[in-house]
Amino acid sequence: MDARRSLIVLDRDGVLNRLIDNPSEPRPDSPMRASEVVVFPWVPQALRDLTHAGFGIVVASNQPAWAKGKTTRADLEAAHAAVLHGAEAEGGVILSSHICYHRAEDGCPCRKPATGLLKEAFERHPGYAVGASWMVGDRAIDVLAGATFGLRTALLAADSAEQATLVARRLQPDFLGADLRDFARFVQTPAHA
Ligand SMILES: [Mg+2]
Repeated sequence: MDARRSLIVLDRDGVLNRLIDNPSEPRPDSPMRASEVVVFPWVPQALRDLTHAGFGIVVASNQPAWAKGKTTRADLEAAHAAVLHGAEAEGGVILSSHICYHRAEDGCPCRKPATGLLKEAFERHPGYAVGASWMVGDRAIDVLAGATFGLRTALLAADSAEQATLVARRLQPDFLGADLRDFARFVQTPAHA
């Protein structure tokens, strides 16, 4: 196996699927049941193109809603299954999902910006090279986790507050774009594959 194969680690909410409005939260929230899941319309084709181009694709996602008592574990898992089903609809393959179910105050080693989910992903898929791989997310915490672990990083965010957080940490993502379409186009150019 080519030791330089690239794994693309995707954050989920805001990258694959829409965030939802939750009046009891200060910012848009994750879908907490399957009926709330809306996969962005460009995602199935982007994942198909990346899969056909030879990239491995996994998901790494913080999902604390069950631990916070906002939903059940079963509903949360059904929501995740709905995201995968929608995202893979055109033949793209997500090799595995790595999910942190803890809250920030639990002090776990997996919740991004910690790197436990990334470590788990590369242990599961040892044929991929960290230095040739990517972390792709819509929040500063995704870029922080990816950079700490040694991945190249992509921030897909219209929200300049996320960029400001990174600037404050003196961290610049390797790619800045609007959505997964932009990243898929970019990473398939020969200089970045
Ligand atoms: Mg996100």
